Amino acid sequence: MELEVDRINTFYGLSHILFDVSLKIQKAEVVVLLGRNGAGKTTTLRSIMGLTPPKSGAITFRGEDITGLPPYKIARMGIGFVPEDRLIFPDLTVAANLDVGRRSRPNQGKKWTLERIYQLFPVLEKFSDRRGGTLSGGEQQMLTIARTLMGDPSFLLLDEPSEGLAPLMVRMLGETLDLIKVEGMTILLSEQNIKFASKHSDRAYIVDNGAIKYEGTMAQLERDEEVKKRYLAV
Ligand code: ATP
Repeated sequence: MELEVDRINTFYGLSHILFDVSLKIQKAEVVVLLGRNGAGKTTTLRSIMGLTPPKSGAITFRGEDITGLPPYKIARMGIGFVPEDRLIFPDLTVAANLDVGRRSRPNQGKKWTLERIYQLFPVLEKFSDRRGGTLSGGEQQMLTIARTLMGDPSFLLLDEPSEGLAPLMVRMLGETLDLIKVEGMTILLSEQNIKFASKHSDRAYIVDNGAIKYEGTMAQLERDEEVKKRYLAV
């Protein structure tokens, strides 16, 4: 098992947000965490990344207990986090933004070179000399993903990547995700957009009110009108 989240409980101050959340993700799987606004998707990803560590339960990455480790250590072990609020440096060029993401990871060859990143994201090569802040929302999303890849993660956490993007950008993003998957990347993404999730994920979990309410293959979920209606408002 690549990542195992075992009955975690996460709080913001005194507010109990996640209740015994458990997930299992195998190598090279793309798994989506679906749920409405405020259901607990971001909190789950932040818990895994160590940004909001759980109070109880355990998180295991490639057999190692990472519960409670600081985020930089978790990143070094190979987990990359792409937050919803595209954190690029607006005054740096696209190329400089990518350079910030470069990080040498011991015991591993450099998988993602600038050249390969530009192959995957031609738009970033075209705009490599432009300041990050001048890019469109979708391009900034691409830049955030690309920068995270420059850190050579083997596991990607993507928080609502399609949120707020124009349809064309959503399509491009989907194609990029498919290509990253082909490279053998394991991905956990959160989404409200079940259409996007269906196209690009193997399996789904549904979180509602901070608890996992459903687990199944994408094909099973697609057929389950009642579950979709109850938890996803579709
Ligand atoms: P969204 O699509 O809005 O990001 P989400 O499923 O990612 O939704 P979370 O952001 O994980 O949901 O939020 C889960 C719950 O935690 C919500 O009730 C939210 O109000 C609460 N919450 C989130 N951040 C904080 C915080 N910093 N302090 C207190 N409560 C918070």
